[in-house]
Amino acid sequence: MNKLLLGCIADDFTGATDLANNLVRAGMRVVQTIGVPTEAFSDDVDAIVVALKTRTLPAADAVSQSLAALTWLQAQGAQQIYFKYCSTFDSTAKGNIGPVTDALMDALHTDFTIACPAFPENGRTVFKGYLFVGDELLHESGMRNHPLTPMTDSNLVRVLQAQTSRRVGLIDYRTVARGVDAIKARIEALRREGVSMAIVDATSNDDLMRMGEAFRAMPLLTAGSGVAIGLPQNFGISPQPQAAELPPARGLRAIVSGSCSTATNAQVADFIGRGGAAFAVDPLRLAEGVDVASQALRWAEPLLKAGPVLVYATAAPDAVRAVQAQLGVQRAGEMVEHTLAAVARGLVERGVGQLVVAGGETSGACVQALDIAMLRIGPQIAPGVPWCHAPSTHSANGAVHVALKSGNFGAVDFFTHAFSLLSPEPGMP
Ligand code: ADP
Repeated sequence: MNKLLLGCIADDFTGATDLANNLVRAGMRVVQTIGVPTEAFSDDVDAIVVALKTRTLPAADAVSQSLAALTWLQAQGAQQIYFKYCSTFDSTAKGNIGPVTDALMDALHTDFTIACPAFPENGRTVFKGYLFVGDELLHESGMRNHPLTPMTDSNLVRVLQAQTSRRVGLIDYRTVARGVDAIKARIEALRREGVSMAIVDATSNDDLMRMGEAFRAMPLLTAGSGVAIGLPQNFGISPQPQAAELPPARGLRAIVSGSCSTATNAQVADFIGRGGAAFAVDPLRLAEGVDVASQALRWAEPLLKAGPVLVYATAAPDAVRAVQAQLGVQRAGEMVEHTLAAVARGLVERGVGQLVVAGGETSGACVQALDIAMLRIGPQIAPGVPWCHAPSTHSANGAVHVALKSGNFGAVDFFTHAFSLLSPEPGMP
């Protein structure tokens, strides 16, 4: 490792990719790891994002995993630490944003940090400490009904204060608007008052850029993925296409889709409408014990040379509900994930080198089946969804290009558009 500038700890997988994608767009070369690596990292990159799955764990487990990530990132020489959580500040009454921040502050021996989930480009803004999701306050948005982390208070100073014994304050929009020196002065004033964490208002990218500069010397930042866009400038880095460069694409092309979101349903229909080869996985056949994964792979084998093939369980809400009523929500989900992951691995073993996966949980299952431990982040296909290049022992080439698309991301032509962005190896079709 030459000089790791930013070491990031993300509390979930797709959130990690979202952060990595923002850092690449801002000019950094970024690798995302799945969990805490067991070995040292030797590639020359500017930032590493360690993807954990700690958002809804018991606080003590989230803390210990986050500290393990910190220790590993410090061993790689990270100059600044970034704890990434959701832009809707997803947390339970007990945490885990407060407890993890406390533990990281203790470990880093720092007496001050900020907390800011703002990502104005995606409609997440913070004003007077209140978080807005689009035009709605957080507690009036769909987040109030979230099954695991219902957010019923939009005042982030109050939300965070309930999760920590340190004092929480606010750096408001007037201070942020006045610029870097005003933000730094406010931090000093808060410190003198005994405040250790400050929610920061931000309603525009300009706010994020000013904040980034003001936070240059802070050992720890806690934020959504938005604050990241203001940090590369502190290291003399500006947006550059080379940051997103990946090795040339090799191998055959395929799509595996287990997302049943509105967007993915439209993307599957668009792909089929263009004449794309597609195989539907029927969850009820899985429940009967049919080896649908093998059937799908036998179907795909002769078609792969002609272009991307699609294997999908994606279905309309009525069909999904009918399956869930018969099999149970969890059993249906697990069976489909397991099958699609086996299909993804089988496809890669049959020469697929460019793989699109649709669905957050589906992506997690496929990454695991391919034994992918880290991903180099490449060009953005759609907001929040980059192409990645990942070592995998299941590929004859030793690595695959993968795009992991969660739920509602991407335009209707996502599946065709994605492949058009990869530059083929010279001499390849
Ligand atoms: P998203 O990102 O859209 O939420 P996920 O992959 O995270 O997608 O979640 C979709 C879930 O639905 C997965 O557990 C998947 O296995 C399951 N699933 C996919 N297709 C079907 C289907 N036809 N019937 C029931 N469940 C399904």
